[in-house]
Parts: sequence; C-alpha cells; structure tokens
Amino acid sequence: MMEKNLLRKVLPFLATLLMLLIISPHTVLAGQDGAATDDRFMTYEELVENLNQIEAESSGEVEVDVIGQSRQDREVYSARVGSGDEVLLINGNIHGNEKSGPEALLQMLNTLGTSDSTLAQQVREGVTIVAIPRLNVDGAEITQRQNIFPWDDVISTYPNLEGSDSAWYYSERNDGFDINRDFNPDLSYEPVLEDLPGTGADPGFFLTNESRMLRDLYLDLKNEFGNVEAFVDLHHMGTPNLNETGEDVTIAIDYPPLGPEDSTKYDEWPNLDQEESRRYALAAALGVKEFSDNEEPGVARYLHPEERDLPGQARSSFALNGTATVLFEMPGQQPEYGYDQELIDRVENGLWGIASRMADNSIDNLNGDDFLKLPKYWTSNISDVETLVERFANEGEFESDDAVQSLTMQLTAISHYAEKEEANKVVKHTKSLKSLLDHQKEEELISEKAYDRLADDADYLIGKWQES
Ligand SMILES: [Zn+2]
Repeated sequence: MMEKNLLRKVLPFLATLLMLLIISPHTVLAGQDGAATDDRFMTYEELVENLNQIEAESSGEVEVDVIGQSRQDREVYSARVGSGDEVLLINGNIHGNEKSGPEALLQMLNTLGTSDSTLAQQVREGVTIVAIPRLNVDGAEITQRQNIFPWDDVISTYPNLEGSDSAWYYSERNDGFDINRDFNPDLSYEPVLEDLPGTGADPGFFLTNESRMLRDLYLDLKNEFGNVEAFVDLHHMGTPNLNETGEDVTIAIDYPPLGPEDSTKYDEWPNLDQEESRRYALAAALGVKEFSDNEEPGVARYLHPEERDLPGQARSSFALNGTATVLFEMPGQQPEYGYDQELIDRVENGLWGIASRMADNSIDNLNGDDFLKLPKYWTSNISDVETLVERFANEGEFESDDAVQSLTMQLTAISHYAEKEEANKVVKHTKSLKSLLDHQKEEELISEKAYDRLADDADYLIGKWQES
C-alpha cells in the first residue's frame, strides 16, 4: 500500500529529528539495583521539552495538556491530535522501568503533527488520539516499576484506611505501588478499609494519583465522545522465545485478562466485549507486520492462559466499561535492556495498525479469533508441551531418542485423559511426567534449559487441572 512506503520514507527522517531534539547533556541514570540506564531514553525534562516542541511545530494539530501531578510534584502530560469521532487512548510507562513506550508515542505524535501523508491525514480525520506518553513520571526517574507513595503518606491521604494492612500491590521495598493494579471497573470507587489488602483477583482501590488522573481523563473523554473506543497500554517484559520455532519474541500483544469466558464473575458488566478487544489486538499485530521491512516472525500472543484474571489492571477496568483494550509487551526491561530503535519503530507500527483501521472502520471487519492464531511462547495446554518437546528434540537438547520417545508417550497418555476431562488422571500422569523429567536430568539425558522449561510447564498443568 502507498501509505506504507511514505511512512518508511518519513520514519528515518523522524528518527534523525528526534536525535537532534535530544540535545541536553547525557546523564547516566542509576536503576533501583544500581545498574545504569541507557541515556538515550528521555529524561523527564527531555520528555517535556520534546512534547512542547512537537506541539509548537504541529500548526495546531497537536495539543499538549497537563492531566495531573505526581506525589513528587511532577506534572503528567497528555497530547491530543485528530478530529475523528472515535477516541484511541494510549498510555505509556505506567511501569517506570518500561521506557520505550514514550519514545514510540513521541515519534507517532510527531508524524501526526507534521506529516501530509495520506495515512497521517486519514488518521487525523478519522480518529482522535489522546496519548499519555509517561504516566509514572516518578518511577521512571529512578527506573523502578512502582510509583513513589510510602504507606504512611497513603494513610495521611486516606485517614479512613488507618489500621489496614497495605494493599497487596504495594511494595515495601520500593515505597510505592504497581499502578497497573490500582484500577477498578467502578470508576467512581473510593477506597474503604474493609476492601484492603485485596488480592490479584480483586479490583484495585484508586489509591494513586496516577490511576486517578488516567481514570479522570478516561471519564472526560467518555463524556465528550459517548465512549472511549479503544485503549492501548505500552509495557516491557522478559525476553522469551516462541514455543514452536525458538525464535525471539519481538513484541507480544494481548486482550484483557478477565478469567475464562464462561465465567459468571463479570455478568454485571454487559459492555465487556472480548471479541472486540481481540480485533484491536489483531489490528496491532497486522500493523507491526505491514509497516515493517521484514516479516516480523516474532509477533506473539502475550501470556494469557484462559483462567488469567486481573481486574485491577487499567486495560481490564476499561474493558469492563465497554472499551476495546490492547496490551503491548516489548522484550527486555530497563535498566538491563537498552534503547532499541527497531523495537520502538515496531511499537509505533502496531499503533498505526490500530489507528489506520479505526480511521477507515475496517477494524470492525477483522475476525477476532484470528488473533488467537498468533504464535505463543508460553504453555496453556498439553499440546504446547508437545510442541516444546519436539523443538527441543530438533535442537539437540536430549541425549537420546529414547528420552524423547518416553516423554512423547507420556504426553500422549495425558492428552488422552485431558480430552476425556478426567482431571485426576491428568494430574497423576503429569506428576509422572515430572518424575520422568527429574530422572532424565539426574541421568544427564536432557539439557538444563529444556528441563527448566518443561518442569515449570508440568507444574503449571498440574496446578491448572487440580483446580478444575
Ligand atoms: Zn509493565
């Protein structure tokens, strides 16, 4: 498509422009464990400077606003561009040690603010994009996942919580909260003593300034447009390999984790539409592939066994309110993983995949089930373990064919019982699989790498079938 070629021409230019914009003295930031963070990631001052410059150069297309203040008195910024009647809300850096999101968002805002390409024009006309490049401004300054909000300060802010244990997603060590567990689908929720400390299966408590300012922005947009059509949250994770090919995962994408789809837990939230979220997630995956020069085989489904249920995540709470939500997970967190321009471009391409399909409404014609066909790097079923054994065998991770064959036979038996839903037998035979793996390890018939992965997966399957 023509837009694709134009974008390809514009991207290198933008990269150069951004390099020129970032001219402040290079500083080395220390992460929470003392490791240095790559100084090509924007500092807070650079982020603000760059946003203001994008606004100034956009001839009125991009509008930059302050949406609130952190506990350490830093202003949190949003940028808005486009005049379409559907809203795409994009959030970055909710975890302070996940820094590529803001970089990708500023590149995209710059293009939307200045480019006359057909693609940029269509998106500006068809969509209103509102981005918060860096929500966790305090955590990002010291490269830690949590914000900074010591529990004593929480009690001064919410005296009615006096005497409570700290919320389950509070970190004593880092004096702050995992903001992405602090959301509640009841958008007017106020924290009450009896709900704390809670668990991962419960909604969050809106304790942090950051969750509250994102919620307020969401509500303002809902008020203005009737609905927030889509929400994207940009994260980093570990550095896994695809089950089938062993290739590196280069980006992982997900729809909201809200338990098995036959669960009745969210029956009171009739606006939840997981199929719609999967269409948007698919659009992101397609965007990564079509705006890239290579085949992008590493686009994967993010970890999502069907029982995964985290209603306190922003994407989950917004999905329960009728918004299609998509998670992007990039490999490698900061400070360990450095600045990676290809990765940043990949994220931007995924965002264009969503925005372009919202602009021409073709997103509604996608088949959300196609998202589920993307490759995985994690195990939810026995067939995933079979795939892994096959790959490890091809990669020479076993000493003998016999070792492979005995695992394969054991897995065949387990699948047989799984098909008949005989949970006790699945558990019993998966425990035998585990013993077999232990034996192979003792006899040095299996590599450490293959053993670790397969033993973990066997434990997961035992736990899953014990509960069923
Ligand atoms: Zn994250």
